[in-house]
Parts: sequence; C-alpha cells; structure tokens
Amino acid sequence: MNEQIFQTPIAYLKGVGVARADVLKKELGITSFADLLRHFPYKYIDRTRFYKVSEINGDLPHLQLIVRLASKELIGEKHAKRLIAQVYDDTGKMELAWFQGIKWVEKQLIVGKAYIIFGKPGSFNGKVQMAHPEIELYTANALKEKGNLTLQPAYNSTEKLKSFLLDSKGLQKLIAILLEQANQQIAETLPASILQQFKLISRREAYQNIHFPADALQLAAAIHRLKFEELFFIQFKLLKNKLLRSLKFKGNIFGTVGNYFNEFYKNKLPFDLTNAQKRVLKEIRLDTQRGIQMNRLLQGDVGSGKTVVALMSMLLAIDNGFQTCIMAPTEILANQHYQSIEGLIDDEFLEVALLTGSTSKKSRKVLHTKLENGELKILIGTHALIEDKVQFKNLGFVVIDEQHRFGVEQRAKLWRKNSIPPHVLVMTATPIPRTLAMTLYGDLDISVIDELPVGRKPIETLHFYESSRLRMFGFMKEEIKKGRQIYIVYPLIKESEKLDLKNLTDGIEVISREFPLPEYKLSIVHGKLSASDKEAEMKRFVKGETQIMVATTVIEVGVNVPNASVMIIENAERFGLSQLHQLRGRVGRGAAQSYCILMSSHKLSHDGKVRLDTMVKTNNGFEISEIDLQLRGPGNIEGTQQSGVLDLKLANLATDQQLLMLARKCVEDIFTNDPQLQLPDNAILNQTSQSTNGGLTWDKIS
Ligand code: ADP
Ligand code: MG
Repeated sequence: MNEQIFQTPIAYLKGVGVARADVLKKELGITSFADLLRHFPYKYIDRTRFYKVSEINGDLPHLQLIVRLASKELIGEKHAKRLIAQVYDDTGKMELAWFQGIKWVEKQLIVGKAYIIFGKPGSFNGKVQMAHPEIELYTANALKEKGNLTLQPAYNSTEKLKSFLLDSKGLQKLIAILLEQANQQIAETLPASILQQFKLISRREAYQNIHFPADALQLAAAIHRLKFEELFFIQFKLLKNKLLRSLKFKGNIFGTVGNYFNEFYKNKLPFDLTNAQKRVLKEIRLDTQRGIQMNRLLQGDVGSGKTVVALMSMLLAIDNGFQTCIMAPTEILANQHYQSIEGLIDDEFLEVALLTGSTSKKSRKVLHTKLENGELKILIGTHALIEDKVQFKNLGFVVIDEQHRFGVEQRAKLWRKNSIPPHVLVMTATPIPRTLAMTLYGDLDISVIDELPVGRKPIETLHFYESSRLRMFGFMKEEIKKGRQIYIVYPLIKESEKLDLKNLTDGIEVISREFPLPEYKLSIVHGKLSASDKEAEMKRFVKGETQIMVATTVIEVGVNVPNASVMIIENAERFGLSQLHQLRGRVGRGAAQSYCILMSSHKLSHDGKVRLDTMVKTNNGFEISEIDLQLRGPGNIEGTQQSGVLDLKLANLATDQQLLMLARKCVEDIFTNDPQLQLPDNAILNQTSQSTNGGLTWDKIS
C-alpha cells in the first residue's frame, strides 16, 4: 500500500502552482493532495430527474419532486410562526415547512394544485420533511426546463479563491485532475468482512463518487461508506486505548463486602435505593472484582443520588483495606460533598476530612500524617488533593466530580498516587446524549442513573412573557410569605457583556423597589464581585438571611439551598438548554413544591421557542440533552467544545446516531473476538493502527 502520493504538496498538482497553492492554504487550509480530496462538496443539486416521495430516505442531495398540495396551515404565535404544508404523490405523503417569508409562500400555495418542489429532504419528528423548498406551479414548460440537468456538487469557495478562478467549478476541476492521477492509489482501510457485512462500497469508489456521483443513490452509498469509516476509526482508537489500559493497569480487587458497607446499608442509609442506584452499584461491584483498573463515568441528573452511590462504593473500598477520596472542581462543591457525606455517616463510624485551598497549615499537617499512616479513609477536596505533598498509604478508590473541568492529566496524577492505580469513578450532573458520551468518553465505561428517588415533587416550569411580570412579583411574594427563598438569574454573556450588565443593574433596581427593605432582603452576586464578596453574599442566602438571590450565571454549579423553591430565569430565551436545565436543578431540593419561571420577551426565534417549550415539557436531563444536540449540533454542547474528537468531517453525531452505534458495535465485536487483531481479515486494522498518525494514513483524526 503506497499512499505517499497524498502527502504531496498541493502546489505540485497539475493546474495549481505556487500562487494558487498559497491561496488554497490561506482560504481553505488545503496544503496537500489529501486535503483537496477531502474538501467535500457541501451540497449537491440533483436535477437529473424527479424523485418519488417513497424514495426519500437517508442522505440525499437537493432534489426535485412533483407533488400535489393536500393542505396548508399556519402554526405558532406571532414571532415563532411557521407554515406547514402537506403534500403527496402516488407513492406517499410528506411535509413542507417554512419559517420565513411565510406570507408570500402562503399566497402561492393552492390546495389541490400540483407543484415542482426542489430542496434538501430531511426528517422531522419521524416524518419526511423539506424545509424552505423552492416551489413552482407544475406546468409543461416548467417540466421541460427542470427535467434533464445533471447532478452537480457545490464546493465551498471564497471571493479570494474566485479571483484565482477557483470557484466551485474550478475546485471541481482540480479534484478531477487529482482523482485521475491518484484514484488507483486510494487504499482500503476496512476489513473485507466488514465491507461485506455492512454492504459498504470500497474506499476508492467512495472518494470517487462523493465528488462525481452519477446519481443520488450512488452518492448516498459514498457518503455512507465514508461516514462509517470516520466513526469506526474514532471508536477503534477509543476502544483500543481502553484495551491497552486494561492490559497495562492492574486493578485492586475488592473481594469482600464488609462491615462498613453492610452497617451503612442496614443501619445508616435513610431510604431505599432506586433501581438505577442499585444497578450502578452492581456495575461498580463487578468492575472492582476483575483485577483491572475501573474507569467509569457516572451520569445522572442533579438530585438523582449519585453521591450516595459514590459513598457506598467508597465504603466497599474501605472494607477491603483501601483509602478513598472525592475531588470536586470548586471549594463550594467540595464543601457540599463534605457536608452531605458527613450527614450520612458520623465521625464515630468513619472520619471524613476536607482539604481545600483554605485548609490551615496546621490541620493540613495533621491530615497528611493521617493519610500517610492510613488512619484517614475518606478525604474530600479540591485540586489541593493532587498536590505532591498529599500522599496516601493505600489509595484505592477515587471519585471525580464534574469531569469536564478536570483535564486528563489531572486524573492521571491521582492514579499515580498508588502503585496499583485506584479505581476511578467520574461523576457528572450534565447528562449528555448517548452518542456524545460514546464518543467523548468512549474509552470509559458508562453508568447512568436515569431515575429520581420516589416521592420527589417534580419542579413545575412555567414560561412567562414580559407582560406577566407583575403576576410573577405577586407569586414571589406569596412564596416568600411561606418562608421560601428565590433565585433570579440574569444572563451574562461575553459578547454582550455591557448590555447584560445594564440589564442586571436595571433588574436589581426594579426588584429592590418591588421588594423593599426591611421586609425583604436581597443577596446580589455577579462576576464583577471579588471572590470573597461573592462568598459572603452567597453565605447570607445559604443561611436564610436573605430571601432573594439576584445573580448572573455564576451560581450555575454548586450552591445547595434546600429552602430555595423558586428559580426565575430572566431572558431565558438566551440561555442554552443545558444551562437552563442546570439552573433549574438549583431548586427542588427540599420538601416544598418548587417552581422554575422562564421569563422571555415576545420575540422568540424558532430555536428559542423550542428550548423554552422543552423546559416546560420535561424535567429529564437526558431528554433535554438529546433535543439540545438536535438544535445545536454536537460541537456546541456544554463541556464538549474543547474536544477535538467531535471535529467530524462527514458524520454528525446528532443525525447519524444509528450509524455510530453500528460502528461502535462493530469495533467492540472485533476486539472481543480478536483482541490482538491476529485474524487475516483484521490484519488491515493492525496495519493502520500501527502507522504513525492513528492509522488513517492520510486521513487526519486524533
Ligand atoms: P446527586 O449527587 O446526584 O445530585 P445526591 O446524591 O446529592 O444527588 O442526592 C440528592 C438528595 O437525594 C440527597 O439529599 C440524598 O440524600 C437524597 N437521595 C439519594 N438517593 C435517594 C433515594 N434512593 N431515595 C430518597 N432520597 C435519596
Ligand atoms: Mg451531588
């Protein structure tokens, strides 16, 4: 296999030369043959023929159909209006949707008439849909005009490139030259058995056809093959890492369930575990008996009871003679863990210690000694835990809260605190969709607590428009009269910081007027305050000295005030879904019925409306994360931005979930049946995985 040719600098391609090479690099980042070959069309226009509704399925280009209008309907309120039309042909029904220019389109549409429609088909809520299609009344003339054009790819280009005659057509010409010269050297990367099993075309055909498809079906097959490959090798790399790690790192065996665990379970645990909690504990039990280091991610909504699971796992470790620790990203969070664990076990049972930046030198010294001689079994803290000075006698189990705030390097530091690395349980209260988890944390095992303890009153969420502000104030007063506390949160976003600060200041003024001293007291917390002032304001609220906490999003993570029962979010339409969900999670922690009120202006974008509707409709973090993924795409999901894993060229974790599952399963099977990749059929993978850049020869992924 010789794919050297694809490393050739682009200047050497016939028709390029130095000047064009320069502009290709500047404008599109194309420096090699490989880069050009992987400059895929961003869309295709298929006027080769008219499609039938029943043919629409999967990745198809912009295409045309002849359909008849069955009905049209305007839905939604003032600023989130949309026009939905139902159409059909002799093979099936589909839906057309417009979000803009509604008035004009609506006038064009006459029920019962036939139209030529042109656009990119997709699916929405399980129905075939086309958003913003071009429409034209069906006539003999129109038919002739639209009938016999070709399937045209369209490439991203820029003004600058165009001045070098490299518009979409120009780029296409270069790619044609490249393929002619090098097509034969595009090597296969996947085992033949996989190609066969999943009916994938060869890599060579795929690259040819993604640029020059003869028809839409051929194109779909090319995209399918390349997407599969992309997802396959990400999973391959992740699972290979996991496998290697399991070979390299032994794990302590927690063979017995002893007194600490049993005593806690029988006499201290004040409630029954949920089924989800039991399941996760079982998973951890199994993990810690295999002699391999556990690396498990525990996902679950706020309040789903992760801490208890973590604690019980720690007790298991202690029963087997090990020490344990919990690391949290902030002092406040570490404090809260400390308090909630102290609340579940008393000092006579087991000593629990807290180590943060503010721990005094003197107590630190005592701590260090107790850790070194093994006397202290449970340590809770911040980054302070990973300092070199902190040495354990025998650290066996580590809990890390809020994964994405700690880097891999920091995790590894904890491992090194023991000759056999401790088992690691990473907890996060930011549920992410399955496909994202599989990709971001694909080398960890994943546990999910998808069930809240029984008897919890679900938070009631309401969406109010500005015009209901007085009603909201009235409601706040009622709640305060009942002795409850209230959060009011304002957005503070870098790009609009000035305006946001003004809104905050105005808001504070209005609230101060509406809720005057001495009857009402406010805590005010925002990013401009010093850390100590923030802390002081927060404390007053935590102690119940103030009834209302006005804040920017700084309170997002952390603070646990069970008596706070109302969360008001101003300009809620400007927050992302996962942020809204996190904020809402600040209430609903006590016995009282809790509320979340989303305030917004009447002017809502389509997505803004979907976000608020979703919040009103569900409290389930996983459901919310799925919708977030659909709305924003994988690159913008909370906590994923820094991850290069999500830089996918073709596949999309929001829309290609099934394909991802398939690829993952496929890789899992390979490693289960042939971990050393010794079967002749898998040799090709061995080859690719040993080459320097992750095994993809000229495909970049890492
Ligand atoms: P998380 O860490 O997932 O946010 P916690 O473990 O802090 O959740 O639990 C939230 C609250 O619910 C705590 O007060 C905890 O004691 C309580 N809790 C946990 N599990 C259960 C359960 N199975 N039944 C009743 N209450 C529970
Ligand atoms: Mg917790």
